This record gives sequence, C-alpha cells and structure tokens, in this order.
Amino acid sequence: MTAGSAPRRIALISVHTSPLAQPGTGDAGGMNVYVWQTATRLARRGVEVEIFTRATSSADAPVVAAAPGVTVRNVVAGPFDGLDKRDLPSQLCAFSANVLRAEAAQEPGYYDLIHSHYWLSGQVGWLARDRWGVPLVHTAHTLAAVKNASLAAGDAAEPMLRVVGEQQVVDEADRLVANTATEVGELVQMYGADPSRIDVVVPGADLDRYSPGDRAASRAALGLDQNDVLVTFVGRIQPLKAPDVLVSAMAPLIAGDSSGRLRVLVVGGPSGSGLAQPSALMDLTRQLGIADRVDFLPPQPPERLVHVYRASDLVAVPSYSESFGLVAIEAQACGVPVIAARVGGLGVAVDDGRTGVLVDGHDIGVWTDRLAELVADPDRRAGMGRAAALHARQFSWEHTTDALLESYDRAIAAFGGDVRRDAGRFGIRRWRNRSRVMV
Ligand code: UDP
Repeated sequence: MTAGSAPRRIALISVHTSPLAQPGTGDAGGMNVYVWQTATRLARRGVEVEIFTRATSSADAPVVAAAPGVTVRNVVAGPFDGLDKRDLPSQLCAFSANVLRAEAAQEPGYYDLIHSHYWLSGQVGWLARDRWGVPLVHTAHTLAAVKNASLAAGDAAEPMLRVVGEQQVVDEADRLVANTATEVGELVQMYGADPSRIDVVVPGADLDRYSPGDRAASRAALGLDQNDVLVTFVGRIQPLKAPDVLVSAMAPLIAGDSSGRLRVLVVGGPSGSGLAQPSALMDLTRQLGIADRVDFLPPQPPERLVHVYRASDLVAVPSYSESFGLVAIEAQACGVPVIAARVGGLGVAVDDGRTGVLVDGHDIGVWTDRLAELVADPDRRAGMGRAAALHARQFSWEHTTDALLESYDRAIAAFGGDVRRDAGRFGIRRWRNRSRVMV
C-alpha cells in the first residue's frame, strides 16, 4: 500500500446489526442496507471487504462468504439473543478481543484500513486502529446529541454513555464520513470535529431495483385495490419514525372521505417501544375510528418493497430525526412523491415543492393540511412523481462507493503511506502520537 492508494482489504465493523439481516425491524434499517450495498460495490472495485458483526444466533457460521469479495465474520460477544442494544457497550471488550484475534490469525498487515459504522463499532475500530497501525474511517449514521435535541414525545433520551462514547470516536477517527453538509455542521458544532477531517458521502438507492414501474401490476402483486388512494409509511415502527403522526394526521381526511378509497399502508416491524409499536399503532387506529382503512405489512424484502413503493400514491416519512432517510430516496426512485419532515438528510433527499413536500414540525393539524393538498391533487402528485424519479437518479450506491474510496484514499494518504511497516504490529507510533488519549 502506498500513500493515497486504494486499500486492498478493509475491516468493516458493524457491531450491533448484520448486513445480512432483513431491514425494517428491530435494529436493522438503513445502516444494514448501506453496509451491504457499499461492501458489495467496493468488492467489485477490487477492495476485499471483511465485515465484523455480532453473532445473534448459534446457527450463525463464524465466517460467511456472503458475496464475491465480501466476507461476514460473526463475532461471538455475549449471549446470542436477549441482549438489548443498550447493553451492547458491556460486550465491546469481548467483541474487540475477537476482532483482534481474527486479525492476529492472518499474515501481518492483513487489513489496510478500518471503516466503523455507528459509535459502538467506532469504539472497536479505535482500538484495532491503534493496534494494527492503519487508518480508521468512521460513519456515525445517527448522532445522540442530534437525536436528543428532537425527541418524540415519550421517547427515551440517548444515554450519556453514548454521547461520551461517540465523542471519543469523533476525536479518535482519522476521517469521519457524514451523509450531508447538515451532518458536517452537527459534527463540528455539537462534537467539535475538525471539518478538514470530514468527508460528505451521500447515501444512495439501489437504482437497478428501485425504478418507476407498472403501478397496476404492483398493486396486483400485493393484492391491493386498483382504485384506492394509498399513503404509505415504510420503516421501523419506532417513536423516532413517527408513524403515529401520519396515522393521526390521516384520520380527519379518512373520516371526511366519502369515496371510501383513501387508505394508509404501514410497512415494517417493531423496533423500540412506545406509541409507535405496531400493536399500539393498531390501537391508535381503532381509537381514531380508522382501523378498517389502515393496513399493516411486516418487513418486506427489496423485491417486494419495490412493489410497495410503485403501488403507493404518496410515501410519508414523518421522522423526528433522520440522518438521511433511504426510504425517501427509494420511493422517489420508483416515481412516487414523498411528504417528509424537514429534518436532517430529508431536506436533501426531497426537493421541496418539486419532488414532494417538506413539513416543518410534527403538528398533526399541519400534517393533515399538507397531506390533504396532495391527496386531493392527483395531477400534482403525478408531476412530482416524474420529477422525483429524475431527482433520485443522482443518489446511487455507485456514487457513494466512489466517494467512500476517495475518503479512504485521503485517510491512507494522511496516515503516511505504508503505515503497517512503519507502525509495526503494535501501532507503537500511533500510541506515541496519541498520548493525549493515554492521560
Ligand atoms: N426496508 C426494507 N424492508 C422494509 C422496510 C424497510 O428493506 O419492510 C429498508 C428500506 O429499503 C431502507 C431501510 O430499510 O433501505 C431503511 O432505511 P432508512 O434510512 O429509511 O431508515 P433507518 O432504518 O436507517 O432509520
């Protein structure tokens, strides 16, 4: 490896969720999709990717050849099931030890770079980076300080443990990858990150999968009525995603809809607790008197999800906080307009007034008004859908992968070329340079 060259093999760390898990429920969501889509594309560009994730079943093989050039290493750290994400910090030592052992079993200098996803992985990556003498690139995906600044009612604040752990990773990473310029601002203002160490790498959509298609065929595939007007929510059912805001805002419109054609479709599985749990959400629809007009589907694999998007007249993303919002891009890629909260990356994902509508805040009355305008105007929706499909073309995982490779390149160049030979197996030079960490 020479300064500024692409890495030959990277260790990608995703402690709390496996890229092989079905997204849309539990802890599996956009990050899983991100890790998988970029890993497979990096591999196609000749960068071997080994993904370290925590084993959550005794049936998980320790090493899985997941795709050409992509290996998933299921690391045993703590019980397979029953361990809440909030308890994972207790298993970081076990996880790190097994990551270090896996590398120690290989020839020296096995990995050229570490890319950690989410702060838990950053903690592991930080240790491995110092030991291996290679650069650490970190993607936060979500930031506790941002989330805590815009909590859903009744949603628990992210603990100080996470805020502190995140801060350490921001301080320690050689480069930070942010989804948007907004996230750069958050990293700089809330975590004091050095802007010259941050790269904006915009996430994408699988544009081969998500494209405009035959709405009628998709409705038939899902057994949906061809004449209904369908407003859809896709994602993990959790307070942060605010599906209850959508359901509550739709209630007056459904009550006033004499055609009986206006329906809501909620796609996704339980994640977290509170009002947004599927069972609680169903209770809410009963209280609102719209239970017969709201349908629920469990998490759908991409080959079915594309039909969900194509079958929809409008997709709603009312989240309280969203570092990007892949669902908004996927829906638009399918030619469907999106109504979204003006938070985080959704402000980039949706071109307000052209490909969809951005709504300020979560006032139910305001959401009802904005939804009413779109529900009542099929021509406007059709125009927005056409613009949305074009708009979404700029968000592709290929572009994301290009930008990641550039970030890796900068990280390696800044690290000073052949760091492995220079630093040795114990990363001595790194430890010395980072003496502030030791005090
Ligand atoms: N997803 C899925 N099936 C579902 C629901 C969601 O595959 O039933 C995927 C969806 O395609 C998207 C991801 O889960 O890529 C959710 O990402 P997003 O950024 O919208 O939300 P996050 O889960 O990261 O908060």
